[in-house]
Amino acid sequence: MAKDQTLGFIGLGNMGQPMLKRLIESGRKVVIYDTNSKALDAAEALGGLRAESSLDVAQRTKIIMLSLPSPDIVKEVVGSEKGLAHGSQVKTIIDFSTIGTRAAKFIDDLAKNQKIHYIDCPVSGGVKGAGTGTLSVMVACTKFLFEEHKSLLNIFGRPYHVGDRPGQAQSMKLANNLLSCAAVAITSEAMVMGTKAGLDPEQMLEIINVSTGKNTATEHKFPKSVLTGTFDFGFSTGLSYKDVNLCIDEAEAMGIPMFLGSTVRQMLAATKAEFGEDSDFTSLCRLVENWAQVEVRKK
Ligand code: NAD
Repeated sequence: MAKDQTLGFIGLGNMGQPMLKRLIESGRKVVIYDTNSKALDAAEALGGLRAESSLDVAQRTKIIMLSLPSPDIVKEVVGSEKGLAHGSQVKTIIDFSTIGTRAAKFIDDLAKNQKIHYIDCPVSGGVKGAGTGTLSVMVACTKFLFEEHKSLLNIFGRPYHVGDRPGQAQSMKLANNLLSCAAVAITSEAMVMGTKAGLDPEQMLEIINVSTGKNTATEHKFPKSVLTGTFDFGFSTGLSYKDVNLCIDEAEAMGIPMFLGSTVRQMLAATKAEFGEDSDFTSLCRLVENWAQVEVRKK
């Protein structure tokens, strides 16, 4: 893929913004769109070329990247009357959104009907990984398409080809996010119990992180966003609830029970009810703190 080719990017939120920055820093020209004018202004300030709509992006660029919140929004952005599928230029859609296996298959079929390639390409590594180019990039498409776009995906992190069929990368991503959310839930319970017993939460994390209880919540999320009381890790409760929901739905469709996953889903549902869907998913700890009347904070 030629480096001077102009690209498209739609969805410039927590993840899209730093990913766009990396593209621009790599010397690419990028046509951008987001329904939120503040997000669009900020992306334009980074050097993005403003578009009027998703369709406008698809009239100006051949390769379009998406980082959108939900399956329904991706379906709308690609398939609606003014969707990307009706653009005169677009040839390939690279979708970084987490939307679940069935939505990815649906969008792949829709794209195929318009002779557009759809690359199922969810990412993991959070806002920090998006900014430093250290995301794990899970890719499901033909090996040929993967090789063709690998150098572009390298800008964001390490690409892994997980299968030929769009939807397979979503299965990979949902398995990862179930584990990530479960770690936040179980770490909240353990940390609240210890704090209530009179232990210093900072020292607890120090010890856990050189012991067998270590996980991504104890290593990164709790030190950054719970001990500080900032609850700002960069992944919303609404989106994490969506991911665990998608995972359980898909397991159910395959006839696989998920007892622990269902409990994590309920804890995220309770966090959403208490603090709203825009709250950070580390707010789950506040829920458990409230039950115990104690705060897991740095002294
Ligand atoms: P976000 O809500 O911060 O950003 C989404 C952006 O999409 C927003 O700016 C919003 O205005 C825009 N948008 C919504 N509807 C639109 C439409 N119809 N047309 C154009 N733009 C529209 O979400 P995020 O945290 O950046 O996550 C994006 C995707 O990446 C999600 O699927 C999420 O599950 C996944 N993800 C997030 C993280 C994370 O840590 N935040 C990590 C890995 C993957």
